[in-house]
Amino acid sequence: MKIAIVGTGYVGLVTGVCLAAIGHDVTCVDVDEEKMAQLGAGIVPFFEPGLDELLAVQRQERRLSFTESHEAAFSGAEAIFIAVGTPQGIDGMPDLRALIEVARAIGLTLANDAVVVIKSTVPVGTNHFVRELIAEHLVRPVTVQVVSNPEFLREGAAVYDTFHGDRIVIGADDEEAARLVEAIYQPLGIPVLHTDTRSAELIKYASNAFLATKISFINEIAQLCERLGATIEDVARGMGMDARIGEKFLRAGIGYGGSCFPKDVKALLGMAELSGYSFSILQAVERVNYRQRLLLIEKLVGRLGDLHGKRIALLGLAFKPDTDDMREAPSLTIAETLLKMGAQVVGYDPVSNTKARHVLPPAVELAPGAEEALGGADAAFVLTEWEEFTRPSFARLFTRMKAPIVFDGRNCLDAAVLGEWGIEYHPVGRGAWV
Ligand code: NAD
Repeated sequence: MKIAIVGTGYVGLVTGVCLAAIGHDVTCVDVDEEKMAQLGAGIVPFFEPGLDELLAVQRQERRLSFTESHEAAFSGAEAIFIAVGTPQGIDGMPDLRALIEVARAIGLTLANDAVVVIKSTVPVGTNHFVRELIAEHLVRPVTVQVVSNPEFLREGAAVYDTFHGDRIVIGADDEEAARLVEAIYQPLGIPVLHTDTRSAELIKYASNAFLATKISFINEIAQLCERLGATIEDVARGMGMDARIGEKFLRAGIGYGGSCFPKDVKALLGMAELSGYSFSILQAVERVNYRQRLLLIEKLVGRLGDLHGKRIALLGLAFKPDTDDMREAPSLTIAETLLKMGAQVVGYDPVSNTKARHVLPPAVELAPGAEEALGGADAAFVLTEWEEFTRPSFARLFTRMKAPIVFDGRNCLDAAVLGEWGIEYHPVGRGAWV
């Protein structure tokens, strides 16, 4: 099928490449000239495991092309997938400006019937709004249906998730349009759930809010573990063995970040408020998450006292491993707070140092490697569980610090190995009962 993808970010590019890989003829369009130039040259503009290789194959097979012209991308396309960003706006609700631009462009340039598939995460009612907006701008007598198809992929495992997703949600008010979208995905063999558009939109927010709730819940339990002398990993394992609970998203630490959970939780709270409902659990989830971000700093102050002039090394800056995404990374809040408290901050991330430079305060020093970051530091925070940090051989590097005191915000280091090197180790949620 001939398909257009609008937006070549983490979602759009991965979707485009994967749809090409299952045999579709895909054209991706983006307004970012630099990104388009890179993609035209076969370069993936961000870090996502496995994507480079797959992109190279699809370009070679001539099933995937890139353009800056919406009109060229839409020409002859039976389906137009919208995957533009919907970042948090100043009122806390998603900023839909890019989506509105695309809807206008579709109306003004579309010359054939098409199904518009909204993959971007959008508030309930947006699919109807987009359908009306396109209809208002149509200049040719074509039929356009709008289908909600929220995306559930995880950055860092985006290609795998696209091929092995748990479900594909198709929210449509038109049966034929829903069937067309199902046919596009059919080669993947992933279970499909058909709903109305509003339910599909809400499924995305409810899913992310639930996962965020699991994280904040286990972080509260971790707080109790520290106070009651229990061990969070054992508690989480015991809970997770219950199939009704499930083992995933029960890792305690410095809380969730990234481009989705914080903004989607905020948006769902906003939708609840607009509908006249106070979503109490989710309000607490957000509060707990913010508190967790400052947890290591509280522990650090408890251990070292005044932070003026203290050199603190941050290992890992991206919001999670296997991505270079710095959006809403806990490292940002942590670095800013440490600086305000008079500390010197030095950071290192295996892949996101360049992106981090654009978003971290200029006073944060960036080191080319972990060894350089740790040299002469008074304390180290592990903020992202990159595999590099978890290797047993890595522990030796902590001895380069002025005083080897490590606060592990992801509980990813091996306490026994650190102990062998004489390193003082502070994980999350492992209490001692004396
Ligand atoms: P992103 O910021 O990485 O990419 C968005 C792309 O859209 C950019 O390349 C931008 O230049 C392009 N764009 C903006 N306006 C455009 C226009 N008028 N025409 C063409 N292109 C345009 O965003 P992302 O992380 O891929 O997220 C996209 C959407 O998917 C968001 O709504 C997000 O909430 C949702 N989502 C993201 C993830 C994730 O892990 N990143 C997962 C699930 C859902």
